[in-house]
Amino acid sequence: MNLTTFAFPTTIRFGPGAVNDLAAELERRGIRHPLLVSDAGLARTPVFERVSRLMPRAVVFTAVAPNPTEQNVLDGVKAYRESLCDGIVGLGGGSPLDAAKAIRLLVTHPEPLAVYDDLIDGGNRITANLPPYIAIATTSGTGSEVSRSAVITITKTNRKTVIFSPHLIPSLAIGDPELTVGLPPHITAGTGMDAFTHNVEAYISLGYHPICDAVALGGAKLAWDNLPRVMHDPADIEGRANMMVASMMGAIAFQKGLGATHSLAHPLSSDFAMHHGTANAVMLPYVLEFNRDAAARPVEDAGGGVRIRRCAGGGARAEPADRDPVPAARVRGSGDVARVVGGQGNSGRLPSAQPAVVHARGSAAAVPPGVLK
Ligand SMILES: [Zn+2]
Repeated sequence: MNLTTFAFPTTIRFGPGAVNDLAAELERRGIRHPLLVSDAGLARTPVFERVSRLMPRAVVFTAVAPNPTEQNVLDGVKAYRESLCDGIVGLGGGSPLDAAKAIRLLVTHPEPLAVYDDLIDGGNRITANLPPYIAIATTSGTGSEVSRSAVITITKTNRKTVIFSPHLIPSLAIGDPELTVGLPPHITAGTGMDAFTHNVEAYISLGYHPICDAVALGGAKLAWDNLPRVMHDPADIEGRANMMVASMMGAIAFQKGLGATHSLAHPLSSDFAMHHGTANAVMLPYVLEFNRDAAARPVEDAGGGVRIRRCAGGGARAEPADRDPVPAARVRGSGDVARVVGGQGNSGRLPSAQPAVVHARGSAAAVPPGVLK
């Protein structure tokens, strides 16, 4: 067995009303003039109003695109410097939280973003010399608030580029499910499928990380059980909390790795402006099918009500631990999720999107059962 390193250092303040601790947390970290990084859409919502009221001395920066660009990051660095900020608060889904991470990086690291590209081991050039950063999630999908990576589209290549370093983990993550109650259904669905995909891909990715495997299994089950629940009742705060945990578990688990679903989803976003989670939801069935033999691993977790095992033909199949058929309501629920993802999530700019979405919808109820039930 090879040597490896396990690390789970993110500090998370979690629960309904957790965001109310923001002023105290800023003070604890000596942040007097934070740069509040968010996006223009969120800036018009009651969530933004609530959070910005908790930090009256913040300098607001909301010029972050749905798929954040290098220019967004450079503009944020300029705002930070001009206003003599001394810390960063990210508020939003993955886009503002990732942009905030990259702004935080470039404030103290002078080289162009491309230098820090994970593909060329750029993370080795990232040091701990970074300003304090508090990340507040308003969606349950990317888990960027607990992760050590940022995805930014670099200007020169128009390629979504992953920047990865343990130093990029926010100083504090705040997970307050109350902030997700007002999300529109297609965002709840798209981001929720992103969380589900993170857990599934982390679990079946190659590599040795039994801790991440356990986290991923638990996160996938949470998303599977709770995404239909919050689609049917957006104000279900317990369901919202469970989705937020599933999202964080996915991002903690994917330090082990992701897979071809994300590889295919990234160009769908950078080239066709498709929502990231929606792109994952569309691609996941095809990738699971493609990887059926390679990904299958014999796992039994009867205690958690989940059983995944290798079939005689070499593929994987899943069944409830008690071998009862899947309740019809559960299958219907996940179908609803997929319908919303397909119906409202894509930009309409991808010529072949519709057949893919229809296919994904048709097999959506079978997507999780391919791995989990
Ligand atoms: Zn993702």
